[in-house]
Amino acid sequence: MKSYDVTVIGSGPGGYVAAIRCAQLGLKTAIIEKYNTLGGTCLNVGCIPSKALLDSSHHYEDAVKHFDTHGIEIPGELKINLEKMIARKQAVVDQTTGGIDFLMKKNKIDVYHGLGSFKDATHVLINMSDGNSEEIESKNVIIATGSKPANLPFIKLDKERVITSTEALELKEVPKHLVVIGGGVIGLELGQVYKRLGAEVTVVEYMDRIIPTMDAGLSKELTKVLKKQKFKINVSHKVKSVQRKGKEVIVLADDKKGNEVEIKGDYCLVSVGRQAYTQGLDLESAGINSNEKGQIEVNEKLQTNIPNIYAIGDVVRGAMLAHKAEEEGTMAAEIIAGQKPHIDYNLIPGVVYTWPEVASVGKTEEQLKEQGVNYKSGSFPMRALGRSRASMDTDGLIKVLADAGTDEILGVHMIGARAADMIAEAVVAMEFRASSEDVARMSHAHPTFTEAIKEACLAVDGRALHT
Ligand code: FAD
Ligand code: NAD
Repeated sequence: MKSYDVTVIGSGPGGYVAAIRCAQLGLKTAIIEKYNTLGGTCLNVGCIPSKALLDSSHHYEDAVKHFDTHGIEIPGELKINLEKMIARKQAVVDQTTGGIDFLMKKNKIDVYHGLGSFKDATHVLINMSDGNSEEIESKNVIIATGSKPANLPFIKLDKERVITSTEALELKEVPKHLVVIGGGVIGLELGQVYKRLGAEVTVVEYMDRIIPTMDAGLSKELTKVLKKQKFKINVSHKVKSVQRKGKEVIVLADDKKGNEVEIKGDYCLVSVGRQAYTQGLDLESAGINSNEKGQIEVNEKLQTNIPNIYAIGDVVRGAMLAHKAEEEGTMAAEIIAGQKPHIDYNLIPGVVYTWPEVASVGKTEEQLKEQGVNYKSGSFPMRALGRSRASMDTDGLIKVLADAGTDEILGVHMIGARAADMIAEAVVAMEFRASSEDVARMSHAHPTFTEAIKEACLAVDGRALHT
């Protein structure tokens, strides 16, 4: 029987990063993945393929709507070849997952393809798809088995027309009318892909605003922009049934006043969140506790109730984000190696890759009010920037929240072109506990979108230069 210092179960961004960090620290490491490709949800059916389709559809939309204004004329009619677009997405996925194979080899990590399950706290069984199985021994185990799409109890996902994000990345045709249940990250990103390609898109959201966990100012601005893009957005709607009739999908919901609303489409994307995935792990054999949400319980060191078994990423509490899983993978590896790492969860940024992009870090205004923190706010509209006008990306704003007494930046919330990349500046500033004045006094290259961060920081003190 092979024996390891660490065995990682699951090869998503949490698992593969944990394995690499373990190997870097001199630990003999194995990784087990039940599918044939490495990379987990993120690389195979999540972050990477969704961004590939967002980029392709963005090019198409630019060609249809904006080329002419730039003085670029297209003779003849523009057409979408969806099959080719999906094939390009798959090529990006294959290249990226292949990169993880390379990293495993480079770091001398043993890769097992099969379902990992606990025999006991130090022995893991690997059940291969060909029916064979193997047992390995491991001093430590890191569980990184991720998550799967959540569903509502009354919805039957037929995976043809009533679909999750996984099927939405593989459609054979552009929907005529896509009904999206859940106005969160997946619903808006994938909704925008098909909106750009010509679908009518109706979002049905239970809460009183889309992206309800982000700062309310961002929800308001994004709603405005998406409505301009002709999205139909129904908030405060409680979906009560989804029925398929041939090629038609009928969604029934109650609005805020209790009136029944019927929405007919040809596809329905159910994007109401994701849930921790532990099926097949046989947690009981190792005596590992999970909670009522199905998440594995961990302490601040990411340790389960069994001290040599750790859990990270989507399968534990907290934001379901690839970069959060990666940080936890690194942290678990370093703790096993005897180090004392730390993650500041408040500084894990959140991004929605619609266009304009939405990005956020730190406290929202609602959280600061709830916690009774005395704060100042400065905001700056993207339309006031020369760079925005040059690229015709004038939608959005940047808002900076700072402590009223010390001026320390407590939260940065932005919507605009390239916000996903710009939020890194806010993370760095907040990691170093910068004040808004610190950032306001830093030189920002002109003309760039980042000038809006400097201006929003100046606005905290009422002295923005360009508004
Ligand atoms: P996962 O990536 O889910 O990996 C878990 C792996 O474990 C899987 O490969 C699974 O097959 C394997 N596994 C499970 N059980 C076993 C077992 N018993 N034995 C062996 N293997 C097992 N996050 C972002 O930060 N940015 C984004 O832009 C983004 N876009 C997304 C888009 C979509 C459409 C979706 C669905 C998600 C997106 N996410 C994004 C979320 C991100 O994908 C997850 O947060 C991230 O993948 C979690 O990583 P993980 O390592 O915890 O788990
Ligand atoms: P989400 O939590 O972002 O959004 C789910 C939405 O569905 C919420 O707005 C919620 O209020 C709504 N909802 C819940 N029940 C409902 C109901 N009965 N009727 C109508 N609406 C309902 O979840 P998601 O969009 O499914 O994404 C899942 C996870 O994947 C998220 O945790 C997210 O962090 C991650 N993800 C991240 C990115 C990114 O970082 N860009 C992209 C995609 C997914």
